[in-house]
Amino acid sequence: METKFNCSTFIGLLMIQSVALICVAQDYDFFYLVQQWPGSYSGTQHSRCYPTTGKPAQSFTISGFWPSYNNGSIPTYCDPNNHFNETKLSDLISYLQTDWPSLACPSSNSTQLWGEEWEKHGTCSESGFDQHSYFLEALTVKDSFVDILQMLQVDGIQPDGRVYNLNSLIYNLKSAFYGYNVGIECNEDESGNSQFYQVYSCIDRTGISLIDCPVLPDANCSDSVVFPSF
Ligand code: 5GP
Repeated sequence: METKFNCSTFIGLLMIQSVALICVAQDYDFFYLVQQWPGSYSGTQHSRCYPTTGKPAQSFTISGFWPSYNNGSIPTYCDPNNHFNETKLSDLISYLQTDWPSLACPSSNSTQLWGEEWEKHGTCSESGFDQHSYFLEALTVKDSFVDILQMLQVDGIQPDGRVYNLNSLIYNLKSAFYGYNVGIECNEDESGNSQFYQVYSCIDRTGISLIDCPVLPDANCSDSVVFPSF
């Protein structure tokens, strides 16, 4: 009787331990979708070069789709053996060129950027997404939730080179994202002015719903920020 009790207790403990292990082993909690204003991808930190496919449209473009943990840490390079393979994305290339172009110099067709993003970030979402579904998910989330530029323009905020109050920009962005907690990041234009650079929104780990961002990076903005034209 004693032995039976100990054995089943042991098995029970093992099961609890396995469940705990499965919980601990979760490879990410949510995604950051980071979108950049292409007019701000130039200044003291970067020079801007248009991709060889041409000047991107007047729209926020994807800067990153990052599997992340609730404490704000971002795992990277999770599977060094899972190399980028562009042929797996042939049906998505034209959408990626529009929504996820590289603005870095020298000009490129953006393939290198997608490869870096898959190997650095995408491989950390492998429990849910293979290479094709990772890029499809990023495009779908960008195109189906909020058109940032359009929503800001409704509130009279537009990329006209003028200076906007940071708090009203944050307030309007939050209401564009249905009240969810979203973040902003600034960088510096050539003259050292704080400019509106990126928007961070958060998506649940299945890629289906917007969520409140559990944590956001430092905005690095002044009280007034320039929204440059593009
Ligand atoms: P991440 O911020 O996703 O970890 O890394 C972004 C990498 O992509 C950097 O090495 C950056 O230089 C490169 N990159 C190339 N084109 C772009 C672009 O248009 N926007 C951003 N944010 N990064 C780009």
